[in-house]
Formats: sequence, C-alpha cells, structure tokens
Amino acid sequence: MTLDPNYQRRFAALYVVNIFVKRNAKTYRKYAESLLELIDASPTPFHATRELAALLKAKGFDALQESDAWNLKKGGRYYVTRNDSSLMAFVVGTKPAESTGFKIIGAHTDSPNLRLKPNPAYEQSGYMQLGVEVYGGVLLTTWTDRDLSLAGRVVLKSKKGQPVSRLLKIEKPLLRIPQLAIHLNREVNEKGLKLNKQTHLPPILQMAQKNLSSEKALKALVARELKCRAEEIVSLDLALYDVQSSSFAGPNDEFLYAPRLDNLASCHAATVALLEASKQDSATRVLAFYDHEEIGSETAQGGGSPFLKDALERMVMDSENPREALMRAVARSVFISADMAHAVHPNYADKHEGQHMPLINAGPVIKTNAGQRYATEGVSSAHFELLCRRAGVNVQKFVMRSDLACGSTIGPITAANLGIRTVDVGNPMLSMHSIREMAGSQDHGDLIQVFKEYFNAKKG
Ligand code: ZN
Repeated sequence: MTLDPNYQRRFAALYVVNIFVKRNAKTYRKYAESLLELIDASPTPFHATRELAALLKAKGFDALQESDAWNLKKGGRYYVTRNDSSLMAFVVGTKPAESTGFKIIGAHTDSPNLRLKPNPAYEQSGYMQLGVEVYGGVLLTTWTDRDLSLAGRVVLKSKKGQPVSRLLKIEKPLLRIPQLAIHLNREVNEKGLKLNKQTHLPPILQMAQKNLSSEKALKALVARELKCRAEEIVSLDLALYDVQSSSFAGPNDEFLYAPRLDNLASCHAATVALLEASKQDSATRVLAFYDHEEIGSETAQGGGSPFLKDALERMVMDSENPREALMRAVARSVFISADMAHAVHPNYADKHEGQHMPLINAGPVIKTNAGQRYATEGVSSAHFELLCRRAGVNVQKFVMRSDLACGSTIGPITAANLGIRTVDVGNPMLSMHSIREMAGSQDHGDLIQVFKEYFNAKKG
C-alpha cells in the first residue's frame, strides 16, 4: 500500500518537528539548569563575576589585569574584571575590528537587595539586629518572612598590612525580617504593607547576649565562616539574600522561580552563547557585564564608566591608527543591551499597552521608548528581529503605556558613551525586583539561540 503523498509529506514534517523539539527540550533543560546553578551560586555581583569568570576560564579564557600591558593575539580569548563586580570578556576576531565592527552583548551583574550599613550591629528590645540600606528598586514587602542570610565581600588585612578581598556566603537561614502579626496591624490587607526603610527593615540576627557586644558577635560569625581571626576583618560589603534554592515550576516545568533572574539570566545567556559559538570569527566578540545598573550606572564599574570603551580601545591598539580604528569599528557595530522585560500579568493586564503584551515562553522582547529610556531604533530593532528569524525564534515587542513612566537599562547609557547603535532586548518575566522572580524555562534557551546566531553570523 502506498501512502498518499500529501500525508507522507505531512508525516515527514511532523517527524522532523518532533525530533527538533526533543533535541531542543534536552538542551533547553540543560541551559535552564545551568542558569539556576549560576543564580544560586551568585547571591551578589561579586559572586556572579567570580562564577562567570570560572565558566570562561574553564573554556580557555585567560585573565587580564587592567593594570598590566595587554598583548592580545588574533583569536585569543580573554576576560578582565573591575572591582570584582563587573566583567568584560572577548574573543579577538581574525580580521581588524575596523573592517568588521564589534559584536557586543551587555548586561548587569547586580540586583536590588538590602545591604549592611558600615556599623550594622546593634541591640534593640532584647534582640541583636543589623542595620540595612536599600540597594536599587527593591519590592520591599517580598523580603519579609523569608529565610535570609548574608553574602558578599569581606576585606581582610594581609600579613603585610594590605587589604585582601574574600567572598562570603553563609549557607543557612540566619536572619529574618518578621512581619507584624495581623492582630497588631488590622488594616494591612486593605491598606497594604507600608515599610519604613529605616525602622522596619533591620533583620533579627539573634537574641542579645549578656557578655557579647553585637559588633563582636557579627565579626565572630564572619570570621568563623572565613576561617580567619576577627581582628583581620577590616571592612564588609555584605548583603542579605534568600537561602531558598531556585527551581523549575509549573506542570511541565515551563517556569523558573528564582531570585536575580533580572539580570543574571541575560549574563548567563550571553556567556553560554559565546562559549558555544564558533571558536573563530572575523569580528571581535565581546561580553560587557556591569555592576550598579540598579542604582543608575554612574560609578567606576557601572555602565556609565569608561570600562567598555577602555577595553575596546585596547583591542585595536595594534592597528596603525588606533583612535580612528576604534571609531570605524564602533560605527560598524550593533550593541545588544540585554535586560529582562515585563511579561503581561493576567491580574493586571491593564497595566500593559494593549498592542504590546509580551507572554512568557513566547520569545525574547525588543523594548522601545520614544523618550529613549530604551536605546532601540528602527535599524537596531531590525537587526535583532532578523537574528531571531535566522535562529527560528519568535520575537515580541514592548512599549510602556503612554501614561506610565518607563524604566531604563544600560542601553541608552552605553549608546551615549560610545555613540554605538544599540538595541534593548530581554526575556519576559513576572515579579521583577521581587526577592523571588518568575520567568520561562523555554525563553532562556531561545535567547541563547539568538545570541549564538549573533556571535556566529558573518554580519551582526
Ligand atoms: Zn535589570
């Protein structure tokens, strides 16, 4: 019996689709798993930078120091960090940058959180507590009643009297910001939980001790974790984090529940794409991950700093006229600024513009704003959309409602600094800036495919 040729064709197409989906499902699962691992290992930008550097190092990237001379080789793979919290990585192209342009993906390593004050420990009403400052646009109420702990950078005094940095991550429930019982706050459900940043946020560490000052108790705790003497501790860059691990969620594991998806998901996607892209490319490919995006980027290692420009300039140093080479290379480049986007929330759909309602697991989002809070314009948008088409990935578009204020990213700042054509993109998510955010497991693989297309393609 011969099959109807149309049926045969349909069947063949179906078969191909199934194989494709199966192969992707496995790879996509791995991508999402490795993202969750990165997030759990990275409660602070210091940890994120260290973890991302380790991924690069394992694939043959060499560490550079900004204070050293750089002798870059064609096809060489390098990374450099600033303040242990921002990172640039690049693969030198086989052709001069002025003839190919750079391929750059930018993102940020920081997330909103609560940070310890310089003299944090004090006693109040029989408790030992820690004073905190709010870093960035924290969704404050989500930090109450969670199992919190401490992580960050501790600066010790070396034997020679120099400052030495060590990373700290205490992996147990250690702190809590308890909510007031409803019996003492009867109107909380009608009026909402209002938190005073000075008086309502300090977490409880332990009960006050008779013969131990709170400062000594905190230093002893940190010293025990780092296996050093308390007297060696000079200063602390510590933040609070939630010890609950990230997880897949939903009936088919279609969601990711995790802290810091904004914006470690973009850092991870760009890094994986560079590691999996072809080893050689004519263009120099660059990752630019900045700290301090959540507080406006205007710092020595933020998006407003010359970190990227400095690095790009050093990449063209061996051309005859480096200054012109840099300008020509930048003029040929498209910078992809990757940061998470707002998926439509079903309970608040009216907060979205009716024609622009990004869905989770429906592909990356191009973000546009007439006031240039996002740096996207027609040509850069088209560049990204064409990359998505080539990668076989659906693309969505976002613009804020005209009667709501728009957020921003490192996109416009980098665009203004370098005069580089820029597109603002990112995967859709819910609960942005909550202590526990939500995104799509499928979207993460899709974004990696698009970034790979960018790093692999002859022309960005
Ligand atoms: Zn962000």
